[in-house]
Parts: sequence; structure tokens; C-alpha cells
Amino acid sequence: MPKYICLKCSKEFDESQLAVMMAIRCPYCGYRVIVKSRSGEIKILRAG
Ligand SMILES: [Zn+2]
Repeated sequence: MPKYICLKCSKEFDESQLAVMMAIRCPYCGYRVIVKSRSGEIKILRAG
């Protein structure tokens, strides 16, 4: 399962936590720039 990392607070969370938010956004601080980390591959996701 891919992990997501918030660029602002650097907390890690997973896809199920994003689904709860119904948006690409950090569940801890609400920041909208998230890094998707999957087996060494890093991808930056920006909402809006
Ligand atoms: Zn955050």
C-alpha cells in the first residue's frame, strides 16, 4: 500500500486516511501538498 507524506508537517498516513478526508489533503494539518511514496518512487500530489 502506498504511503503519503505531508510536505508541511512530514507526518505519514495511508490511502484509507485520505479517503476519510474525501480529498488530497493532510489529515493532520490540512495542507494540500502531499508526497506519495511507493517502493522508492516519490510523486508529489497537489490538490486544486
Ligand atoms: Zn500535514
